[in-house]
Amino acid sequence: MQPIGVFGGTFDPIHFGHLRLAEEMAEGLGLSQVRFIPAGQPPHRGAPRTAAVHRLEMVRRSITSNPRFAVDAREVERPNPSYTVDTLTALRAELGNEQPLWLLLGADAFAGLPGWHQWRQLFALANIVVATRPDAAGIQTGNLPEELKQELSQRQVQNGSATGPAGAVILQNMTALDISATRIRATLARQNSARYLLPDAVLDYIHQHQLYTHP
Ligand code: ATP
Repeated sequence: MQPIGVFGGTFDPIHFGHLRLAEEMAEGLGLSQVRFIPAGQPPHRGAPRTAAVHRLEMVRRSITSNPRFAVDAREVERPNPSYTVDTLTALRAELGNEQPLWLLLGADAFAGLPGWHQWRQLFALANIVVATRPDAAGIQTGNLPEELKQELSQRQVQNGSATGPAGAVILQNMTALDISATRIRATLARQNSARYLLPDAVLDYIHQHQLYTHP
């Protein structure tokens, strides 16, 4: 059974850092699909400034040419806070217990995992692949919260193909792309060019709907 990737984020807006992460993790792990799941109301950070309908549409437009990428609107459509544990539980119920699932995380997101709702439960629901990111604080140096370091030491594997449906963690290098949505929003608010940081189709949509015009 070919594994499936799950990639959550605010995607405010989606950019080449996100897309390249998904592409490289999919290739490295032989994922048959990566599901991009834009967050509705992220519980562990401030509410995204851009309406979910726009963030969802930008994701949709950025992945059209990639048959392996799909968008999943479930968190945006949910009235309650979007906890990843709930999303993965729902996916498990749909896909069954045998389906290998990989949660795709940037290194900064992984370092913050102990702050997530029922975070240890995530290991029962999916494997986790951590894409190391240029500005990531200290995965390599072991500079992680103690409880996460312990989980990592028990769960880390080197080879994704030997893993089961859930419970393993892999650290996988990716091409360093120092792009952030925060900086793209600031660039656009100054009316500077954000071209080549994100797909043209997304930039066209941003201009069409006059998103990110204010800091
Ligand atoms: P913001 O600047 O608004 O915080 P962001 O660019 O970090 O946004 P998110 O939507 O918060 O984007 O990120 C979703 C996921 O993508 C997270 O797991 C994050 O670590 C990862 N990610 C974001 N940008 C990059 C990048 N340039 N390289 C690798 N991973 C990234």
